[in-house]
Amino acid sequence: MPGVGCLAGQHGVVAAATLRRLASIISKSCAMRPTVYLDYNATTPVDARVLDRMLPYFTQHYGNPASEGHTYGWTASAAVERARRQVAAALQIDRPSAITFTSGSTEGINAALKGVAEACRDHGDHIVTVQTEHSAVRKCCKHLEQNGFRVTYLSVDTSGLLDVDELECCLTGRTILVSTMWANNETGVIQPIREISRRVRMRKIPLMTDATQAIGKISVDAAEADILVLSGHKVYGPKGVGALYMRERVNRCPLIDGGGQERGHRGGTLNVPGIVGLGEALQIAQQECEEDHTRLKVLRDEFEQELLKRIPGLRINGRDAPRLPQTSNITFPPLDADRLRIGLRTVAISSGSACSSHTHAPSPVLEAMGISREEAARTFRISLGRQTTRDEVDYAAAAIVDAVDSVGVLA
Ligand SMILES: *Cc1c(COP(=O)(O)O)cnc(C)c1O
Repeated sequence: MPGVGCLAGQHGVVAAATLRRLASIISKSCAMRPTVYLDYNATTPVDARVLDRMLPYFTQHYGNPASEGHTYGWTASAAVERARRQVAAALQIDRPSAITFTSGSTEGINAALKGVAEACRDHGDHIVTVQTEHSAVRKCCKHLEQNGFRVTYLSVDTSGLLDVDELECCLTGRTILVSTMWANNETGVIQPIREISRRVRMRKIPLMTDATQAIGKISVDAAEADILVLSGHKVYGPKGVGALYMRERVNRCPLIDGGGQERGHRGGTLNVPGIVGLGEALQIAQQECEEDHTRLKVLRDEFEQELLKRIPGLRINGRDAPRLPQTSNITFPPLDADRLRIGLRTVAISSGSACSSHTHAPSPVLEAMGISREEAARTFRISLGRQTTRDEVDYAAAAIVDAVDSVGVLA
């Protein structure tokens, strides 16, 4: 059909011209240097060592781990089980079989919350969580509320910490699950998981924790919880793969009905290259966590000191609480935040949470910490990572100071 070919050709020409125009605009605006990436809490690049491990599983060892009759299947299956042991080791647990591979933390959170609720419907209907949880947890809880469950959303203080006494007070004989994140994605604030775990599990109530941001940045011992979720793309692994740890399998039904994969827990052919990448990423994270922690904390602290010194009225949120070493959540003094954003286009940082940066609503995390809608609009998250250099951090600090100077602080 020549007509179709011709049309496609025209579209191709238009698209190419548009792309060239865009590329020229971008290259002019970035003529000085490429955009510095300081948004590692949104996602991380895949570590080159992780990619190296993954590649053969796309083109060479492409067998289905469920194929039990030949070496292609055995090779893939062995790689998956090796990754399972790597994940268990990173979580400091000695039972790899308690790990189920998922598509990421969102799936793990949905499976765990909805699975526990379904399994425990007969003896309870109350769930406790926190106002500063990731939207996946908050939205699952809203869903469960619409299905007859009661949810307590604990408040936090101005530094972002929940009150363990208040948590303990709201536990009842009908409470079936407590869900509190380990470290917050927006502020880096670390909840007192050990103390939470002690108080919750003393009452034989299971504790679930979203450790997506904690793993690889601080020491994580899964024994503190009954259920834990993590994700590959926040720890220099690939996107679309994660793990769910369940000390005891709570749900009778599979998370996904299918071919009985993952001991009948989650059907569907396993994402072998992704799983291999997740295992490798977590092993590297475990080995390099301390070194990365020390180096990034120095850079982050110097960055914050520089901004505090150069921008009067600047505030660092969560500064009084234990925090991840590489996250900085900053409220600027009153200024035109939209103009600041334009001034900061050579630094990739995030306003509010990555998931809600398209909406103008203030992030629920900041709101829970008592930050007003107007303040939230001039609040940004800067998160450093393994590839971050001192030069990049210095550049970002200078760019931020310059942008604030040129936008001007409102009286
Ligand atoms: C990124 C993130 C999630 C979601 O993980 P995905 O693997 O992208 O679904 C959940 N919780 C926290 C704290 C996160 O940072």
